[in-house]
Amino acid sequence: MLIYKKAKDFISYLHKNRSLSKSIGFVPTMGALHAGHTSLIKKAKLENDISICSIFINPSQFNQKTDFDKYPITTDKDIEILSNVNCDVLYLPSVEDIYPNGWESNSKIDIGNLATIWEGKFRPGHFDGVVQIVNLFLELIQPNKLYLGQKDFQQCAVIKKLIAIQQYPIEVDICETIREEDGLAMSSRNARLNSVDRQDALCLYKALFYIKNNFLLKSNEVLLEEAKTFFNGNSNIKLEYICIVDRETLDELPILKENAVALVVAWVGEVRLIDNILLY
Ligand code: AMP
Repeated sequence: MLIYKKAKDFISYLHKNRSLSKSIGFVPTMGALHAGHTSLIKKAKLENDISICSIFINPSQFNQKTDFDKYPITTDKDIEILSNVNCDVLYLPSVEDIYPNGWESNSKIDIGNLATIWEGKFRPGHFDGVVQIVNLFLELIQPNKLYLGQKDFQQCAVIKKLIAIQQYPIEVDICETIREEDGLAMSSRNARLNSVDRQDALCLYKALFYIKNNFLLKSNEVLLEEAKTFFNGNSNIKLEYICIVDRETLDELPILKENAVALVVAWVGEVRLIDNILLY
């Protein structure tokens, strides 16, 4: 696997391969890689001439400094994992290389409502940071195909909108959420759960599957009220939101509709976890 830390060397590699008409599949990550990430990389590898993974913990998308400071860093292990799945290229830039003049200086791309509801409301500025870094990487790498995980449902919607606004000729593949055997969605943040948290964390999956299993039987309002009970009576768990929304607009759905997805976010101990499930 080739590893590029400096944009200059990476750009000449990209130029060379673009002139040879090689197709590129790109997987952006923040590292601390797990089977969710490798599922994306394997797909990128299978469907393109070149698979590129980036690892960059983007400071501009963290609305809480403690979350940024505590984000797990496992670079040596990540390199081993990427080599084992035969990823072709790892782009591993430093914060100084990406933002030589700081991240506040870059101009913003307005994504509209998709970036300000739900996660946008609870994590102000988060999607500005996501849009900033993803746009920078897409301009640099110009992949044919971008691989994203459904686990970060709103992030997928925001990035699809970014690509539409910028008119990039990039196909987006939203890949299924990879779960632990007991249903917990894999996440780099799971490494921060202690053994009690790890058990408590199952409430997200249980609530989502309760909604999915009863979706055709009850109203959305009743379903959400009942799903909230999975988070009650345990001081280690704090539900931030659970909702049933339209997959495209992310607007709340008061009544049963085909194009629905349930989103959930909860704090378990000191870790903020996110998950979702497609209904229908
Ligand atoms: P992250 O490193 O958390 O920024 O994630 C990088 C990419 O991996 C994003 O597109 C995520 O949605 C995706 N991803 C994270 N966890 C999972 C998972 N459990 N299953 C599938 N994709 C995932």
